[in-house]
Amino acid sequence: MHITLEDQTAIVTGANSGLGRGIALAFARAGANVVVNYHSHQDQADEVVAAITAAGGKAIAFQADVGEEADVQALFAAAIERFGAIDIVVANSGRQDDAPSADMTLAQWEGVLKTNLTGQFLCMREAVRTFRKQGQRQASRALGKIICMSSVHQRIPWAGHVNYAASKGGVHLLMETMAQEMAPERIRINAIAPGAIKTPINAEVTADGGTDDLLKLIPYGRVGQPDDVANAALFLASDLADYVVGSTLFVDGGMALYPGFEDNG
Ligand code: NAD
Repeated sequence: MHITLEDQTAIVTGANSGLGRGIALAFARAGANVVVNYHSHQDQADEVVAAITAAGGKAIAFQADVGEEADVQALFAAAIERFGAIDIVVANSGRQDDAPSADMTLAQWEGVLKTNLTGQFLCMREAVRTFRKQGQRQASRALGKIICMSSVHQRIPWAGHVNYAASKGGVHLLMETMAQEMAPERIRINAIAPGAIKTPINAEVTADGGTDDLLKLIPYGRVGQPDDVANAALFLASDLADYVVGSTLFVDGGMALYPGFEDNG
């Protein structure tokens, strides 16, 4: 199946690495112009841009902390200055800063919430403002599209990661509430909830195809790859998903299906 994002521009946050990188490359292969946001590691962002331009696509890298309002506004301004408009925003940036709940510092709590939850809100709000200002564009049926990067931990509690699980639980209702609010304007907002995908965020447990303990949690029997998530993002960003509004697409090999119960009859 050929999915096209021709004549559309996408901002992908945290696109220097992992899932964001995979999504940026997939969107560019589908014909979109891509704004590769990064927070640090400019060299990695430049490498993603170079890969896209070498394949005949168009991309720029732009540094911004998604938790900072002024940075997010500057990111969107740079995208419009370079490409004229924005059609798709993938609020992907996220991080972990783990500790047992009773030992977690306020800085750890607030730091993860600021990037994972406030950062997504700021990007979504800026996206909605931009879509409204632009009006309907030719290349897509929706006025604009937003994809939030959630996690199976919007549903599955995760001891030792209370800030991360709370942030993703927050993303769930942030996404659904804004999707409900914006649907009458034909702004489509959805989320992806990945399970265990091999990226730098979980390099320790996904090395060599995943530890035995991790694989026990994945009924489909393998750790995910960034392209598994990129393909889902491509679908949600495209007109093939034109009637998909406020959904969370789990891309997790069945991790959210309570696998411990499969032989507990
Ligand atoms: P990653 O560490 O490779 O990527 C995270 C990205 O977020 C990086 O590009 C990083 O620079 C960026 N980032 C961090 N803080 C930022 C900030 N303040 N401003 C802008 N960018 C910032 O890990 P990943 O696995 O690719 O994670 C991407 C998203 O997917 C995250 O939201 C993560 O929670 C989510 N996720 C990942 C998995 C997985 O198994 N890999 C599972 C569920 C959810």
